[in-house]
Amino acid sequence: MNIPSPALNADLHCHSAVSDGTLQPEELAARAKANGVQLWALTDHDEIGGQHRARAAASALGLPYLTGTEISVTFADVTVHIVGLGFDPDDTALQSGLAATRGGRRERAREMAQGLAKVGIEGAFEGALKYVGNAELISRTHFARFLVETRVCTDTSEVFRKYLVEGKPGYVPHRWASLRNAVTWITEAGGLAVIAHPARYKFSANAEYALFSEFKTHGGRGVEVVTGSHSAADAVRYAQTALEFDLLASRGSDFHSPSESHVDLGALPPLPADLQPVWTALEARVHQPA
Ligand code: AMP
Ligand code: MN
Ligand code: MN
Ligand code: MN
Repeated sequence: MNIPSPALNADLHCHSAVSDGTLQPEELAARAKANGVQLWALTDHDEIGGQHRARAAASALGLPYLTGTEISVTFADVTVHIVGLGFDPDDTALQSGLAATRGGRRERAREMAQGLAKVGIEGAFEGALKYVGNAELISRTHFARFLVETRVCTDTSEVFRKYLVEGKPGYVPHRWASLRNAVTWITEAGGLAVIAHPARYKFSANAEYALFSEFKTHGGRGVEVVTGSHSAADAVRYAQTALEFDLLASRGSDFHSPSESHVDLGALPPLPADLQPVWTALEARVHQPA
């Protein structure tokens, strides 16, 4: 396999039931393979408990694999996601950093349920729990699934818009990891840190500049340019940012579920040819099938 090709069908961002996806790591591996993915990473939120399973499943299918995670960070009072790729999944500092980041999710979920109860939606904590595949990782996505099940809303994006974003009844602000810690945990575990879906944050120009500069200062190396969360215009814009900040470019669907995600595994446009793909710096970290 020619790993450095910019046209490689790499999908380096998706979620399993170990965080807020609906498929098991093995099912994702099979789906990635069937969709023509040539290099894959499972990037569960704040959790690497699925890494050995994903890597073994990819190996059995002849699919090259990079370890992955997506760390929740609070930067300038905004939640930012940092993807880590190619780290040692047995690194204890990374594992304990992620465990600390996960801590507090249950408490937050109870508060979210209280907020929803105030507007007449009862039993949301227990309802969300039915969808949780990892007791330490109850997320807004699980609440969204419960509100669709009970027909409060017709789909998960409507739930987020009406109930789960800032200013809405089920929103509870939360302090996640620091940018410095997230980047350091990934880097010291031998991996490479990437700013996930930058178009989602709606920062002012100054705050965005600060995010990219501080990210680089801490040792961050990449940015997602082509992702399921970006429009074509967003990809053009962040291709420019990648060049300005001399960052490697990443590509990933952010696939969560066959019934919820509008971009399937591997079903993305290629990276712009003038960018340096993140996988060119990760060749030695790719787990090649046996
Ligand atoms: P949490 O980490 O609990 O705050 O949940 C964040 C997750 O919610 C993200 O990783 C997405 O999977 C999901 N999410 C956030 N915003 C939306 C949205 N507008 N529509 C659908 N899912 C969303
Ligand atoms: Mn998610
Ligand atoms: Mn994200
Ligand atoms: Mn994601």
